[in-house]
Amino acid sequence: MPSVVIGRRGEDRARAGHPWIYRSDVEEVEASAGDLVQVVSGRGRPVGHALFSDESEIMLRMISHGAKPPAATFLRDRLAAAMAYRESLALDATAYRLVHGEADRLPSLIVDRYGDYLVVQALSQGIDRRLREITSALVDIARPKGILARNDPRVRLLEGLEQRVEVLHGEVPERIEVREGVVQYQVDPWRGQKTGLFLDQRENREAALRYARGRLLDAFSYNGGFALALAPKCDSVLAVDISEDAVARIRENAARNGLAHVEARAMNVFDELRELERAATRFDTIVLDPPAFAKNKAAVRKALSGYKEINLRALKLLQPGGFLVTCSCSYNVSESMFVDIVAAAAADAGVEVSLVEKRAQGRDHPILINVPETYYLKCLILRKLA
Ligand code: SAH
Repeated sequence: MPSVVIGRRGEDRARAGHPWIYRSDVEEVEASAGDLVQVVSGRGRPVGHALFSDESEIMLRMISHGAKPPAATFLRDRLAAAMAYRESLALDATAYRLVHGEADRLPSLIVDRYGDYLVVQALSQGIDRRLREITSALVDIARPKGILARNDPRVRLLEGLEQRVEVLHGEVPERIEVREGVVQYQVDPWRGQKTGLFLDQRENREAALRYARGRLLDAFSYNGGFALALAPKCDSVLAVDISEDAVARIRENAARNGLAHVEARAMNVFDELRELERAATRFDTIVLDPPAFAKNKAAVRKALSGYKEINLRALKLLQPGGFLVTCSCSYNVSESMFVDIVAAAAADAGVEVSLVEKRAQGRDHPILINVPETYYLKCLILRKLA
């Protein structure tokens, strides 16, 4: 079996439960791209087994710990376990994440369900090489009508893999109809962001529905995720996204759901918030769900000032007694950093705010307790007191 020797720091990391070993902690390699390798310490002690990449800075992704190799059926077994867990959640939706990489012990594999179809992403050499085996297991276990590989994320380039979108099984249409709670969506699995929808926010939309009322502003709306979910409880809805394409989709989805009081604008949120403030417009409910401002550690400082600005402006636009649902999906910005920045925004805005709920990504995107990077989506629900 191919093998890799790692240094002391890598060994400590693996034993502390982290599934990634970096290139700088690898000492000797006898393996090729995508191999399942035995991982041993400098003193020859078995650490575990991992998928090996000859291109990425993350050279090893742990599959198992200790001397015993994983069962020959580990892929199939873990796919089945991941799906059984999702079934046990009895989610009120026909679109959700079936496999969330490391958190399902299938590092760098994503599988999302959209009705009768599956969309997969293979984000490392080891998983990419096993896509046929994964496809055949998915067909056996989930019986989908079609499986699409959305292998176009840029991170594949770090693995020396090409960006490619292709059908792996059956047929996959241009549009798939799915349901989330009472909202019907048309999803474009071929070209939509991520695999088509922001599935990780589903439970935060459900939570926000408990507080939504009056005039709603949904900033960074994409296809209208929060806007459409909250619209039934609101008198008027303004959804804002910079992408014309996303805004067209919000209008279509609003019409499909008979939500005539949803207005969608293609605007930069930073400009729109300033405009609304100038016009003295006020809202009873505001959602802020921006893209990851801090894509890496170097960008954190600039990101924090972006988060502060939008939260400050939103808190000013909010009526006393109103609710702000504010999110960050940058894993480089921790929960405590995010709470601090929102607190600073409240202080600067001169408003009193209570923290009603602290939330994360939905339960179909589990967090690993020993892997802080997996807690990436923070969602705070705040109430403006005065
Ligand atoms: N709230 C959405 C997901 C938002 S993803 C949901 O629940 O589904 C982030 C969105 O922000 C993307 O659609 C992107 O087009 C948009 N965006 C990025 N920068 C923006 C900006 N400066 N102003 C407005 N929208 C922006």
